[in-house]
Amino acid sequence: MKWAADTEATPSNSGSQELPASGGMGICVNSTYDSGNIEVISISDPNERDVCHTLELRIHEDPFCESDRRAHFQWFSYRVSNARHEKLIMKLMNAGQASFPFAWHGYSACASYDRHYWFRVPTQYDKESGVLTITHIPERDAVQYAYFASYSYQRHQSMVADLQSRDSVRLEMMGQTLDGHDLDILIIGEPAPEKRKVWVVARQHPGETMAEFVAEGLVRRLLDRADGVSRKALREAVFYVVPNMNPDGSWRGHLRTNAAGANLNREWAAPSAERSPEVLLVRNKMDRVGVDLCLDVHGDEALPHIFLAGNEGIPGWNERLAGLQQRLSDALLRASPDFQDKYGYGKGSPGKADMRIAAHAIGQRYDCLAVTLELPFKDTADAPEPVQGWSAERSLRFGAAALGAVLEVIPHLR
Ligand SMILES: [Zn+2]
Repeated sequence: MKWAADTEATPSNSGSQELPASGGMGICVNSTYDSGNIEVISISDPNERDVCHTLELRIHEDPFCESDRRAHFQWFSYRVSNARHEKLIMKLMNAGQASFPFAWHGYSACASYDRHYWFRVPTQYDKESGVLTITHIPERDAVQYAYFASYSYQRHQSMVADLQSRDSVRLEMMGQTLDGHDLDILIIGEPAPEKRKVWVVARQHPGETMAEFVAEGLVRRLLDRADGVSRKALREAVFYVVPNMNPDGSWRGHLRTNAAGANLNREWAAPSAERSPEVLLVRNKMDRVGVDLCLDVHGDEALPHIFLAGNEGIPGWNERLAGLQQRLSDALLRASPDFQDKYGYGKGSPGKADMRIAAHAIGQRYDCLAVTLELPFKDTADAPEPVQGWSAERSLRFGAAALGAVLEVIPHLR
């Protein structure tokens, strides 16, 4: 493979068998960190004919998930070091067997030098071979690649520690997960019987990191004392926010399951301490405080849109809930041009809802407005952003904007 145009930009590669500038250690790939996931099959050094490094990689599977009858995988995150100005051809060899292989079409991988700002890099999916190829020449020595901007458990801990220093925030540890992580809930606002209870649950599926950015964006706006929307929201409601419902899966670099291989968004009919303590802990807390509105935030691998998945199929669906759901959807349209109501999963058939799914189970159990809010991994097709695609930054801003929509529906919830 020849990369004539690139040779000029990579003088260290113009000859053969030169030692890299790093002093002998060549290209290295590592995922031994919180949320990392990759296995290295092989790394080829450049030779005279080939001025690029070809890295053959594979994504590690989540534990087998009984409810979905498969071992999920799609999330990846790894660091390549000693790579400055080296042409990297990174082949994710098992991409074709991932949980949502069709979602690789139109997808570009995320990269970051500082682990805060993530940008997209050229990515090609070959359906025949099932190989996803990421091509990049890093401008820095070390670069991180991931399925989406990383939201590590370490960042989660820093975020909740920062937020609990505010007067109106309580940080409650509801219990521990199977791996021994603390399951955190942020309670914002002074509880009072007449106030509505607004729940935001994010990241039941750990690979959907945008969900935690949305939760963080919403909470940070809520804590802005100069913001009239936030002040009013806190007068009328108390917010119960679970920013990361699946810290075990997040830590382990899973796409979809917890440490036991449970898909938490299929556990709400019968959560158990053995398989899904995360769901049991949150549901018990909901039973104690009540729910008037629940946003369950997710990421969709395939669709380039933000959309709601509603509760039309639950047995308790009625005119009141239909009106509330419509009101929320309309309010989101006004709150953010990134939200749309044209594309999505379609309406559920009456009585056919899968009651193992959080929004369905919560809507039914508490006779309340509950929705699944989906954000893209790729971008919004209506207003694409070519450098970053859909991003952590846009997720944070969308979470902040969504608070405006929540405020609009609060007076109608009961
Ligand atoms: Zn999800």
